Amino acid sequence: MQKSRVVIKVGSALLVKNQLIDKERMEALASLIAKLRQKYEVILVSSGAVAAGFTKVKLNKGNLANKQALAAIGQPLLMQTYAEIFAFFGIATAQVLLSAYDFDSRKRTQNARNAMEVLLQNEVLPIINENDVTATGELSLLLEFGDNDQLSAHVTHFFNADILAILSDIEGYYNENPSINPAAKIYPKVSEISAETLKEQATPNNAFATGGIVTKLKAADFLLQNHRKMFLSSGKRLEVLEKFLLEGIQVSGTLFEK
Ligand code: ADP
Repeated sequence: MQKSRVVIKVGSALLVKNQLIDKERMEALASLIAKLRQKYEVILVSSGAVAAGFTKVKLNKGNLANKQALAAIGQPLLMQTYAEIFAFFGIATAQVLLSAYDFDSRKRTQNARNAMEVLLQNEVLPIINENDVTATGELSLLLEFGDNDQLSAHVTHFFNADILAILSDIEGYYNENPSINPAAKIYPKVSEISAETLKEQATPNNAFATGGIVTKLKAADFLLQNHRKMFLSSGKRLEVLEKFLLEGIQVSGTLFEK
């Protein structure tokens, strides 16, 4: 039977603790992915290169060129850490660096898609990140794609996955920012996002995150328009995503579905 395909996106808010890469969290994520692979083909989209770079060279992240340099330093470190962690589960990993341009033309998209199929057929786990060093060269596409949220939505659509699972440091999408208003209420299901909401300012919550909720909503909007699903849940409670994907039970999180 053909397995369905899931894209899992982990953001910096989750992977970075005290300005360092949180290895324990990566291990927990790997353990979940190992379980999910029995039922799904999994593609991982991971941020964290800038934070990983910062562990080696303390450059000021406020400047774009420095951020790109940190990404260049950190990307191989991040991949090395993933490779070691996944090896423990007998899973081989592959680094796939993409930029917005890769989805610009049918030909380029098809090339990326062909390579992706070969990886998945051979049970290799593709780990995707934005090619920050070149992607930001022009108009700061890093900001446009927003901490991989939109990149992962494109990956989900163009690589024909059924659902995008975004793991962040929050339980889901709330009617107000929960870090400002603790009484904010979570939306369990969203089938439409208003144009007004999509115009809001991005509000990332730490020095590494560039996304915030708005880039997640833009990702969800893109997927809803393309008849695909998105599930936003807390990466601190991976059992929420596990239950949802393996048992079809939603105990928390927000499901974006038409
Ligand atoms: P990541 O690095 O995982 O992409 P971000 O820090 O960019 O995460 O985005 C998640 C943050 O968005 C939350 O921690 C929260 O502070 C903020 N946020 C703002 N408004 C909302 C909202 N309405 N619902 C949920 N989170 C929100």
